[in-house]
Amino acid sequence: MKLINGQKISNKILAGLKRKTEKLKTKPFLAVILIGKNPASNLYVKIKEKRAKEINIGFKKYLLPGKTKQSKIIGLITELNNNPKVTAILVQLPLPRHLDTDKIISTIDPNKDADGLHPKHLNQLKRGQTPSILPATTGAIIEALKSTRINLKNKSVAIVGKSKIVGLPTYYYLKKRVKQINIYNSKTKNLPGKCKRTDILIVAIGQPNFITANYVKKNAIIIDVGINKVSGKTVGDVDFESVKKKAAWVTPVPGGIGPLTVSMLLKNCCLLYSFL
Ligand code: NDP
Repeated sequence: MKLINGQKISNKILAGLKRKTEKLKTKPFLAVILIGKNPASNLYVKIKEKRAKEINIGFKKYLLPGKTKQSKIIGLITELNNNPKVTAILVQLPLPRHLDTDKIISTIDPNKDADGLHPKHLNQLKRGQTPSILPATTGAIIEALKSTRINLKNKSVAIVGKSKIVGLPTYYYLKKRVKQINIYNSKTKNLPGKCKRTDILIVAIGQPNFITANYVKKNAIIIDVGINKVSGKTVGDVDFESVKKKAAWVTPVPGGIGPLTVSMLLKNCCLLYSFL
């Protein structure tokens, strides 16, 4: 088994972006809205801030209490949409339960949609088009697959997890680029049998160490998107120890899709800036 070193690929992408931003007279500027005190979200925003600043992207965090009313968040996004200094906007997900995620994300100006989750971009994907901005996690999954140099065209793919932010956009993106693709969720019957037939297994379910060797075809590529905390340790949705003898390639957690997602987000910020 070989590791897909997401951290290393991410560092390379960030170095490339830095070379580009160094040449700019004005710089891209990312505004991040963080609502509530979710420790994981707080940590992700800190990492995004650190990496953005390292590559000359301006950064400002808007920290709002967990009980903030939806109208106030929409008001803030509208202000940021109209602020010419701000070239990219991100609302850190997941949001507290009383808020309507779709409504909030659709308020972001698509020309400032750093995470690529605005309905304009998601609908383009759904229609089989390639949007100018890809959802950051989908971009990360594609980069991880590219690094293995496999030919996607003759591979079958299974995606486990059907969320709007990871599973579905990745399904729509890959649909016309691979031999065969299926997407599964918690209602799928005989999941191990279905996964075991596929060359590439992408897992984003939020269930620690759920996928074992029993779900894996010999020499498959395993992309583990999951980030879970178990007894203070970060683990993926894939049981790494169980699958490592069977798979050809695996993304580790931490150090796989996580850092790649941050670099794809910042790549999106640079792209949005270049469209101005
Ligand atoms: P959601 O909770 O929004 O969606 C989870 C999906 O997984 C649902 O479709 C659900 O099914 C399905 N699911 C849950 N349990 C099972 C099961 N036992 N068998 C099959 N399907 C199952 O999760 P997200 O997509 O937001 O996140 C998934 C994971 O990815 C989390 O660990 C999260 O932390 C991580 N993540 C990582 C990112 C990164 O950058 N690396 C970015 C975003 C998320 P159903 O539809 O039936 O409910």
